[in-house]
Amino acid sequence: MNDEIKIKTLTPLWTGDIDGECNKIKETGIIGSLRWWYEALVRGLGGYACDPTDSICKFDYKKYHATGNVEDGLHDVCDACRLFGCTDWRRRFRIETEYNGKSVYDGSIKITVDQNNGWYLPGGICGDLDFKIVDDEYQKPIMQLLNFISKWGAIGAKTQQGYGVIRLNGNVNSRSYTKELIDFIKKNMNGNDKQNQEYLPNIKDFFFSKIYVNEINDENLGDIKIIHSEEKKEDLLFKLRNEYNFLPTAPKVRYYLREHFRETYKGNDDLRHFLCGFISTKRRPVILNLKEKILKKMGSKIFVSHAFKENDKWAMNLWGWIPEYVSVIGNTNRDKLFNEFKKNIELKIKNIFKEDSDIRFKWKTITDDKNSKNIENFILDLGDSK
Ligand SMILES: [Zn+2]
Repeated sequence: MNDEIKIKTLTPLWTGDIDGECNKIKETGIIGSLRWWYEALVRGLGGYACDPTDSICKFDYKKYHATGNVEDGLHDVCDACRLFGCTDWRRRFRIETEYNGKSVYDGSIKITVDQNNGWYLPGGICGDLDFKIVDDEYQKPIMQLLNFISKWGAIGAKTQQGYGVIRLNGNVNSRSYTKELIDFIKKNMNGNDKQNQEYLPNIKDFFFSKIYVNEINDENLGDIKIIHSEEKKEDLLFKLRNEYNFLPTAPKVRYYLREHFRETYKGNDDLRHFLCGFISTKRRPVILNLKEKILKKMGSKIFVSHAFKENDKWAMNLWGWIPEYVSVIGNTNRDKLFNEFKKNIELKIKNIFKEDSDIRFKWKTITDDKNSKNIENFILDLGDSK
């Protein structure tokens, strides 16, 4: 098996940096999002994944030394930490990346919609990247995981702001590829009976959508300002459109996502914050206890990518998860909430790109019973589709 994975970015990849720049790929930024997706799959497939921001997973040296069996040491380590590491247990693989380029633009652009506070979008990395998974045993499952994510989601940081849609070069599009990933995850499960927290990402609660648009006019992106750069707006947009093949559509779509929840669940700010995250920390409401923890610690549950070129059309990935927990926060039913969201967001997106009469949506979600067979088929189906 070839040990290099060739990846092409479809929207800029952001792996973070303290100074707000991203000219190099930081391994940790990739690992964090791989872990996030892996956890969602583990929870959906019946395993247990701890909350990584509040983890007590730890390798038990005492038990290990008593028997000499690694599995005994791993007894209290969750299924995600087994692969991604925790206290006294190192991550099972390393990623080496190669990229010969720099940030797609200097400074940032600020996009404002209806005179709101606006979003700042720094450049990020665009182009062809080489990934190498160091450690033979985990090379294939990590590649399979990347392949799975590339179909409908995104990797890296700032994925809620449009970044990180990728494509794997090479023909790895088969159902059996995802089946192997599922088998790997199941094989590596601890088998302990800890319960997942139901507000954490679980693939059974996910929905995915691909939105296809023929034409996108610059005027439909929102009000754009160039920050800390001499580049002219028209020149930059021309470059993004024609050279990098993406357009920064995420802020405007996000704005209307948020508006949907504001209009449909009037007065229920908690529900909107729970699903869309907080716009700014200053405005965080005072909430208490578990609810406070759940609301404060977690970002958006709904993600939308920038528009990228796919077979001469513009495509956008829209995905997220709506847990049953919305009934606690929002006093509403999960399926009802999702169906309202789906219907309304189609209308709103059609209204954003209204010059284009042929906007199409492809949705994926589990509509049947969420039993293990249907969940597995859902995962296989997602990995299979382009
Ligand atoms: Zn853990």
